[in-house]
Amino acid sequence: MFEKPDFYATKWGFPESRPEDHAPAPKQFMPEHLSDPSFYEKGYHLENVGDGGNFYWVTSPSGYDAGFVVTGSGVIVIDAPPGLGENIQAAVRSVTREPVTHLVYSHWHSDHIGAASQFGPDVKIVAHEITRELLERFPDKYRPLPTETFKTDATLEVGGTKLELSYKGADHTPGNIYIYGPEQKVLTKIDIVSPGSVTFAHCDVSENISGFYQAHDDILSYDFKALIGGHISRWGTREDVEIVREYWHDVLAYAEEGLRKMSNAEALVGFTRGMAPEYYMVGGENWINSIANYTTEKTLTKTTSNGQTWPERLAGATMFTKYHAWTVAETFRTERTHFGYQKEGNGGPFYIA
Ligand SMILES: [Zn+2]
Repeated sequence: MFEKPDFYATKWGFPESRPEDHAPAPKQFMPEHLSDPSFYEKGYHLENVGDGGNFYWVTSPSGYDAGFVVTGSGVIVIDAPPGLGENIQAAVRSVTREPVTHLVYSHWHSDHIGAASQFGPDVKIVAHEITRELLERFPDKYRPLPTETFKTDATLEVGGTKLELSYKGADHTPGNIYIYGPEQKVLTKIDIVSPGSVTFAHCDVSENISGFYQAHDDILSYDFKALIGGHISRWGTREDVEIVREYWHDVLAYAEEGLRKMSNAEALVGFTRGMAPEYYMVGGENWINSIANYTTEKTLTKTTSNGQTWPERLAGATMFTKYHAWTVAETFRTERTHFGYQKEGNGGPFYIA
């Protein structure tokens, strides 16, 4: 067992979070295997998902997941998270003697494909062309270069089993693709929806937040029975995606409201009032954090469409909403149309109204 390290506390850093400060994960979020000791001893949990019986979802106690399809002429593995490591192969061996012939990279992040080299030099690796570009630019021996790439759409066919690959533009990262099994009705789209939760901080550390929002609608445009999302040890249903989509639109609406309230000339000057110019950045921190706090408070206390609050519906709501609020507010200000405009003359500090 691991010993809990002391929290590294510092005057200028983040405060330590304690369980009693937060809402527990809702019951509907907790899959049974999380309470099963054999999950932790074995290191993985495997389930058959969707139709047809040949699509599998495998997850680890690290909270990462991946998928694989047994085609009859070899196994297609989707992603190779180091948190699952060689347990992916153990999971494959537990259901078939077919070799892994193909590996699909969802996106270039090492936490999802950083155990790819375990499949050796002969495996065919399929990915978006941007994923290949990024891996050429930032080489990693654990993430071999894709052998086959595509631009917008491609079909990977192995032994009569088809996977439809699609790229709809940058979201979590550039090059992050949709991987869909039309016969099984299983969709893999990584690092957008972590089913049953608000996902990890800062919109799961996404780069293009407008694209992150769009991806929720694009996921729902597929006819799927199971969504493999990459995280949280749970696969998702259509309803899971609809619920988190509603959450994200609440965050966006309140972030917009907070920006409008606190980005007019009066509010902006107010954040630095009485401060010497060398401390104007204190005002800047208070300005963005104040918008994030407004967004967080409004989102977490709202009565949502089913009569419950977000902490009652989604795991992680009280922990990560503040980070999401910060990112969404800052993104709304930069990626969307700008409602502030300075005319000639002295607008004062941060004057954009
Ligand atoms: Zn990622």
